[in-house]
Amino acid sequence: MEIIHVSAECYPVAKVGGLGDVVGALPKYQAELGHVVKVVIPMYRTKFLYENQWELVHEGGQNLGSHWFHYSVIKEKTNKLGFDLYLIDINGLLDREKIYDYEDDHERFIAFQIAFCDWLSKWGHKPDVIHCHDHHTGLIPFMVKYCFAFSHRLADVPTVFTVHNAQYQGWMGWDKYYYIPPYDSWKWGLLDWNNTINPLASAIKCAWKVTTVSNSYMQELRYSANGLENLFEYERGKSSGILNGIDSQIWNPKTDNYIIKNYDRELVEAGKRKNKKELCGQFDLDIEKPLIVFIGRLVGEKAADLLPDAISQSIYQHHGKANFLVLGSGDPHIEGQLDHMKHQFGGYFNSYIGYSESLSHLMYAGADFLLMPSRVEPCGLNQMYALRYGTVPMVRSVGGLQDTITDFGDPNGFGIRFNQPSVWDITYSVGRAIDLYQNKPDLYHWMRNHMMALDHSWDKSAQQYIQLYESLKR
Ligand code: ADP
Repeated sequence: MEIIHVSAECYPVAKVGGLGDVVGALPKYQAELGHVVKVVIPMYRTKFLYENQWELVHEGGQNLGSHWFHYSVIKEKTNKLGFDLYLIDINGLLDREKIYDYEDDHERFIAFQIAFCDWLSKWGHKPDVIHCHDHHTGLIPFMVKYCFAFSHRLADVPTVFTVHNAQYQGWMGWDKYYYIPPYDSWKWGLLDWNNTINPLASAIKCAWKVTTVSNSYMQELRYSANGLENLFEYERGKSSGILNGIDSQIWNPKTDNYIIKNYDRELVEAGKRKNKKELCGQFDLDIEKPLIVFIGRLVGEKAADLLPDAISQSIYQHHGKANFLVLGSGDPHIEGQLDHMKHQFGGYFNSYIGYSESLSHLMYAGADFLLMPSRVEPCGLNQMYALRYGTVPMVRSVGGLQDTITDFGDPNGFGIRFNQPSVWDITYSVGRAIDLYQNKPDLYHWMRNHMMALDHSWDKSAQQYIQLYESLKR
């Protein structure tokens, strides 16, 4: 089959979170299954762009409202990522260093989607499926079906839309309607949700199939979806959950170049200890104590606002028997609190405020426990990376976390689970982690070994997506 993924992120070209990881890995695994797989993202000005070879494959022009823009499409020459990578360049809109958080994000991503549809409508043949990811590409299923400029060529091309995170929907006022190329005006309702243009809602209505990144998240969305609950309920017939996998070539402690000492299941004790030594040395922590880490965006969804209180409570209540390290960025208030706590709890707690791919790898390898108290977690990749690196996940029972982690109190369980995103539940779980680390070494070693043998690679899920596409064949 010929599959085109369209997304705002793709690792290692441009990544902010899990979306980047997924779009960097799923296409590679699909290509390995023998399919022709293309990934299209905006041409941001990131390092990857300057370090690789490109060829120009198309140039065109379109309107964004009354503003005419020129775009070009370039292709990476060497198939470096294991699939065909295309970047769309639009000067003045996409030629920025960051991916999001500009005032004109609506204009940027609508122009990207228009350019994509325009380019595709000029191909000599049609792909078998267009797979769109999250709200930045959510208008494509509508555009290919109903915008006159594209529908004559593309209306019958199947579209699949994956919801990686329904919190963000890309809403904009109807005053921006004229950005969307002329369309069959009877269909305006397919763009609308609660009197705004809602790209996520539009994609759920217009895509031929909708997927979310875990089964539990699919069910949760029917009663908690930031206003779209009824829509998810209404469209359940065409919706399903497919669990994300991890790129087990990149996330492999045996070959990972970011870590100090490589290891596998046989060498896990010594390997992890060397990495822990490095980490504790860098952050002035005690290597003999269990090390509990948090890696991720410092936002309410991840319950990062609870970290300052939960960590200080845990240090007091458990008499400093565990050490903590946080890597993340996000809400400036939380960042400030975590920065301040470094001085208050020196020797017990430390933090790195910012984004560091290399430090995140060292932390998965060197930590004993990874904490994820998330309020919402569509799939969660961190816990799967932790499993692969022999680091025990401590997770709240929600979304993909409850689909991938079982509590060590249950038969064959290998993680720590708790029910509420609360300071009390986290502090209590820290107590269980300390007890496990200090008093149950045999169980702890068994858990490590068991976790590392689990297969969370993309093999199975990549196949499930293919089956879904096959069911749409024209
Ligand atoms: P989300 O997509 O909601 O942020 P996921 O668990 O799906 O959460 O994916 C998070 C990804 O982003 C992981 O690869 C994680 O290691 C990475 N990550 C998040 N914050 C940072 C950071 N500050 N530095 C390095 N990597 C980070």
